[in-house]
Amino acid sequence: MVALRGDGPLKLGGTMAVSVAGAESNVAIGLARLGHTVRWAGAVGDDEAGELVLRTLRAEGVDVRDAGRDPGAPTGLLLFEPRLPEVTRVHYYRAGSAGSRLGTDAVERAFAAAAPPRVLHLTGVTPALGAGARAACARALELAREHSVRVCVDVNFRSRLWSREDAAAVLRDWASYTDVLIASDDELPLCLRAGLGDRGERGGPAGRAGRGDQAGNGDRSGAQIADQAAGLLGLGVREVVVKLGARGATAYTGEGEVHRPARTVRAIDAVGAGDAFVAGYLSALLDGADVAGRLERAVTTGAFAVASRGDWEGAPTRAELGMLGAGDGAVLR
Ligand code: ATP
Repeated sequence: MVALRGDGPLKLGGTMAVSVAGAESNVAIGLARLGHTVRWAGAVGDDEAGELVLRTLRAEGVDVRDAGRDPGAPTGLLLFEPRLPEVTRVHYYRAGSAGSRLGTDAVERAFAAAAPPRVLHLTGVTPALGAGARAACARALELAREHSVRVCVDVNFRSRLWSREDAAAVLRDWASYTDVLIASDDELPLCLRAGLGDRGERGGPAGRAGRGDQAGNGDRSGAQIADQAAGLLGLGVREVVVKLGARGATAYTGEGEVHRPARTVRAIDAVGAGDAFVAGYLSALLDGADVAGRLERAVTTGAFAVASRGDWEGAPTRAELGMLGAGDGAVLR
């Protein structure tokens, strides 16, 4: 999507900065910055906004040759409205967008063109966009299985796009294809067969950007989370990684549980932290790091996102990963 970012209440007008956003493209850029080879199989309109999206991804080193240009639909749009220092409202204009009409062809191209990828990354946003996009994801999962490609899924539940019931029906099917499941603590019940969870919508715990579209209340107990993670491991997921905002993250595997606290940073803009976290986690996984090492890089890239304005703009290169420990007011010459 094209992203317009203002600096106050949207209804007052004023100036907006033009950029690009989207969960998968954020992850793609995060991985490319860390030196990995990344292909993005999405869709944009055959318009100048689409040109901006593809040009940005290309400039960041993401291979977009598989991306579709849809002449019959516009590129999706979102508006960021920083409303309070800790609360950003996000307004989406993507019903009927090219991304919502994503077809299986981009996915087929991505798997046919080169050696299969080492990891396929999907998010729960794409299947929520429409039947075509859902079918494209299903095809990607089949192809991943056919080619023995590891699958990572970030649940990324968006209640404005679909109901908990609809999300659960898809995500539970996906669980049997998923090697690495990444979720916020309140999203875990969506992926489990038993029960849809017990809570309503939440506004977001203090310090988080209030997208207001997350899965439920954030104050879940450790035992509850561990139980749900165990349920997912029982379905064949190999790693369940739970993002806990400013509390860090915990990974559950057959070997037990590993926790990493968040890195201490001054929070500037929490939007995009989850995607940056995923990029760090997958980067370390591709490097052959163990679960503790994956979490360590994930909390580091997540902290970079929180400490920088924009969804992906502050994503670190590999050489910059050590920068967080540089200390207050450090000048690096
Ligand atoms: P978003 O939807 O805004 O991208 P999310 O809900 O998917 O976020 P979070 O759990 O908020 O993901 O953040 C992901 C990771 O980023 C956390 O696990 C943590 O490592 C890091 N993080 C988040 N908030 C902070 C913070 N205030 N300080 C340091 N690190 C943070």
